[in-house]
Amino acid sequence: MSVQQDEAIKPEVKPTVIWKCKDAECKAWVREEYATNEYPECPLCKGPTIRSFKHLPAVPKAKKPPRTKKK
Ligand SMILES: [Zn+2]
Repeated sequence: MSVQQDEAIKPEVKPTVIWKCKDAECKAWVREEYATNEYPECPLCKGPTIRSFKHLPAVPKAKKPPRTKKK
């Protein structure tokens, strides 16, 4: 058997809106969905951030409980 199951290995990524630090030396960034303000500050240096995109693995919504088998 030489069939490779790429889908099982690769996590599914999608373009995600993030806010990243304006400071080039500061690599901090935060997902927009986790940002508390419309214009969040840098979580590390508290500096200004700019809107950007990043290809990230899709994360399940934290508010919803994991699927259970009850019915
Ligand atoms: Zn920063």
